[in-house]
Amino acid sequence: VFDVLIVGGGPAGAAAAIYAARKGIATGVVAERFGGQVLDTLAIENFVSVQETEGPKFATALEQHVKQYEVDIMDVQRAQALIPGAVNEVRLASGAVLKAKTIVLATGARWREIGVPGEREYRNRGVAYCPHCDGPLFKGKRVAVIGGGNSGVEAAIDLAGIVREVTLIEYGESLRADEVLQRKLRSLANVTVVTRAQTTEIEGDGAKVNGLVYKDLRTGEAKRVALEGVFVQIGLVPNTEWLKGTVELSERGEIVVDAKGATSVPGVFAAGDVTTVPFKQIVIAVGEGAKAALGAFDHLIRSAPQ
Ligand code: FAD
Repeated sequence: VFDVLIVGGGPAGAAAAIYAARKGIATGVVAERFGGQVLDTLAIENFVSVQETEGPKFATALEQHVKQYEVDIMDVQRAQALIPGAVNEVRLASGAVLKAKTIVLATGARWREIGVPGEREYRNRGVAYCPHCDGPLFKGKRVAVIGGGNSGVEAAIDLAGIVREVTLIEYGESLRADEVLQRKLRSLANVTVVTRAQTTEIEGDGAKVNGLVYKDLRTGEAKRVALEGVFVQIGLVPNTEWLKGTVELSERGEIVVDAKGATSVPGVFAAGDVTTVPFKQIVIAVGEGAKAALGAFDHLIRSAPQ
């Protein structure tokens, strides 16, 4: 029986593992893919104290740091169900069952893809998902933002300050972002908004993105925008499908946590992109992971001995 079992091996899970293990308690990490989203990232330039690194290098550093401690790492294992109790159980896809007094859920999230030709091919070569991360790479260039909700409009405002030209592409009749954001957007001279536009393809020269093709839903006509970057902003999907009905989730499917990372189930904590904590970033996930592990430890020392 683990004292703390962490589900997820991204930045949040790794930080939780280090903080738990340093308390000298039995700690395990089960992860489908140790490293998490960082493995899909190229340059990381905003992890405070590390001026510049690369995703895979950062993921290796995470794993090496965790391995400095007595942590049972179970990689390439998917959790399928959580059964809470005095001792919680986590069922894996392999059929194995893990038991733990406390749990830290850190299964992260994934960007919702638009699913058009060119998107996957040019990922990290012009197709981006995170303006905080990749915006500066497009300094002085032309970009499109796909999605007219809050995240899309925020991204367009953010990028307008860095890049030369932003085209915001929205499928619907009008933008869905808060009015205050739309007003700000309209005040920016280098932003063009195109509504009723369905992105059909992201084009490139084999190495990098050079255009976006959309269908004008008013006329049925295909139109092309020449550009260097495309930010897809149609939502972040938390990896919580397996937790429905177990812990409280928000409308968006994120795990609801309190200031200590506690979920609605006693002894079950959560951290990182999978939670309601805003601004999905590595530095934030790491801090939240540490906090959830300390929350779990706090819970353990207050519980009756089992
Ligand atoms: P994740 O990194 O998503 O890790 C989740 C972990 O849980 C993984 O190990 C996964 O395999 C595992 N998992 C999921 N479901 C299960 C399951 N059912 N059972 C077992 N394990 C499971 N942030 C920055 O701060 N700077 C950047 O430059 C930056 N660039 C980015 C670029 C890209 C392309 C992407 C996609 C993201 C970027 N981010 C960046 C965001 C950053 O990667 C995330 O905020 C961060 O990784 C979140 O950490 P996490 O541990 O919460 O989740």
